[in-house]
Amino acid sequence: MTNNLQATTTLSNGVNMPWFGLGVFKVEEGPELVNAVKFAIKQGYRSIDTAAIYGNEEGVGQAIQEAINEYGITRDELFITSKVWNSDLGYESTIAAYETSLEKLGLDYLDLYLVHWPVEDKYLEAWRALETLYSEGRVRAIGVSNFQVHHLEKVMKNAKTKPMVNQVEYHPRLTQAEVKTFCDNNGIQFEAWSPLMQGQLFDNPLLKELANKYNKTIAQIILRWDLQNGVVTIPKSTKERRIIENSTIFDFELTAEDMDRITSLNENHRVGPDPDNIDF
Ligand code: NAD
Repeated sequence: MTNNLQATTTLSNGVNMPWFGLGVFKVEEGPELVNAVKFAIKQGYRSIDTAAIYGNEEGVGQAIQEAINEYGITRDELFITSKVWNSDLGYESTIAAYETSLEKLGLDYLDLYLVHWPVEDKYLEAWRALETLYSEGRVRAIGVSNFQVHHLEKVMKNAKTKPMVNQVEYHPRLTQAEVKTFCDNNGIQFEAWSPLMQGQLFDNPLLKELANKYNKTIAQIILRWDLQNGVVTIPKSTKERRIIENSTIFDFELTAEDMDRITSLNENHRVGPDPDNIDF
């Protein structure tokens, strides 16, 4: 299953989603962005994760188009994700936001569209809009991001279509056992954002020890732990060396004991906002 960079998980609606992809949060429009996305695709990445709020959908779209033209990749080999931002949560406004994202990306469909944050009193209407987009065949899969169990339960109680993916902060300091178990039990693919804890795990002694043991880097150990936990992962880098490094994780396996040791680093520590206390 997870034995190469293009290996996929099958979402609840039968759509295949790569286990591994490139995140582009905080990468501004410009050549650095375009070059990073193109380079990743050239190296075999097939999944790119962006969002309206990242303000870089045009550059991602340009990179996709250039990769298609220059590397002979076809659109249907790629898996492109974007997300509706909080200020657009509402039925009509979410549909309009989807159209704006498509236009910026220069695409006629997305593979996955997510509700970015569970803003109270707004996310149910946004979910209804995603269901419409999905039932009309305008997006291949729909999901949510930063949803806790109670948000998921509320959506699922009201929904015709349950979320296919939940993308949340997840790394060895934040293992999210409750929401992960809920997703695993309900056929919702769990996806990690900030899998490298935005660079804050690189001096951890256990991870250093394991990097030495497996002759891998700390980033590779963490990302491999994601895969072996059945978690889709989308680390961000714009540096060619790291884009290659992060994806070279399909050629080794962590033992069950080492998996548990990494999981035991959990401190329920977030680097991003708490979904139950968002004020943006
Ligand atoms: P990350 O954990 O992927 O860390 C990225 C940082 O780690 C980079 O800036 C880089 O400096 C460093 N890095 C990357 N590879 C490295 C390596 N091999 N060695 C050393 N340092 C390395 O953090 P992220 O960008 O926050 O998260 C990944 C992606 O998740 C984002 O780009 C975005 O697509 C997504 N995301 C989603 C949400 C959400 O609310 N849904 C929030 C944050 C991020």
